[in-house]
Amino acid sequence: MTQTLSALAIAEKLLACESITPAVGPVFDCLAGLLEPLGFTCHRFIVGEAPDGPVENCFAIRKGPEGSPHFAFAGHLDVVPPGEGWTSAPFLPERRGELLYGRGAVDMKGSIASMIAAVQDIPAEAGTISFIITGDEEGPAIYGTRALIDLIRQLGEEPDLCLVGEPTSVNRLGDMMKVGRRGSVNIFLEVEGVQGHVAYPHLADNPVPKLVAMLAELDGLHLDDGTEWFQPSNLEITEIEVGNPAHNVIPAKAKARISIRFNDLHTGKALGDQVIAIAKKHGGTAQPVISGESFLTPPGDFSQMIADAVEAELGVVPEASTSGGTSDARFLKDLCPVIEFGLVNATMHKRDEAVAVDDLEALARIYRRVTLAALA
Ligand SMILES: [Zn+2]
Repeated sequence: MTQTLSALAIAEKLLACESITPAVGPVFDCLAGLLEPLGFTCHRFIVGEAPDGPVENCFAIRKGPEGSPHFAFAGHLDVVPPGEGWTSAPFLPERRGELLYGRGAVDMKGSIASMIAAVQDIPAEAGTISFIITGDEEGPAIYGTRALIDLIRQLGEEPDLCLVGEPTSVNRLGDMMKVGRRGSVNIFLEVEGVQGHVAYPHLADNPVPKLVAMLAELDGLHLDDGTEWFQPSNLEITEIEVGNPAHNVIPAKAKARISIRFNDLHTGKALGDQVIAIAKKHGGTAQPVISGESFLTPPGDFSQMIADAVEAELGVVPEASTSGGTSDARFLKDLCPVIEFGLVNATMHKRDEAVAVDDLEALARIYRRVTLAALA
């Protein structure tokens, strides 16, 4: 039996490893150094090349008895760049009062520390536990969780349930979990015309009015009214570009960009096709780039396990939400039901990112309860 560490002590070790996205090396050495003494086998691998890689990933698993349930934690050890103006060095964790400061304190090395602390004294006989940890969540996520899912499938070690440790709490630890996220598609629009003199429009073909009409139709689309669990899907025009410096020239080309956040009534592909058809009608083209499909784990047994654990430790009942941006749960949903629950997100991606020390330890106790319930 190894010595039990506090979530705080583990968080300090992880925060001390600089790991700006995409991450490789020391922070994963640290992770393996924490999990291997607990009986986990770490499958580490590096994929990709600059600029989006190289990326390190780790699938750590400790198998329970044959046929026992498999509960997985998922998360990322990469962090966004710290930026300027920190009170203390971003990769030298510093405790001031009740808070622990460092880049990644809440997003999401702190949560990973709580996960590790949570499983320390759970015996292997309780069931199979794994950690799905990537070094590329904050970047393009091309070589991250998707590569881990491929490995897990090759190994035949698909979990039964997966908890992602993104910082989902808003005003206090435990007030929110994410049972789903909207999908996201960005679409690049273009209309080609024929350049010419504004005084001789019959010799030119102005693409701007066509683009304006196309955007008006897109902006007027009613995608849906929302669902029981999701807000209505939303289309935003995010860029219009003609780039014409001359007042007397009809430009040759006009471009625009839209971004759609959509619920589970749509797929990125179907929305892309719909926009392509509208663009064509107005004499233009559309190039959809899907960032992620939506996911929903409808509230049920799994969300109840998390709600019960939170309520037992903190006396709060978490709201089951689908708000916010995308996360790696958009990939993990292909493996098994997935829910996100973690620390308070007020300082994520900000200067002087910090976590309340009490929250780290409380989260470890909550994660421990969830693990035991999932393996029961
Ligand atoms: Zn994150």
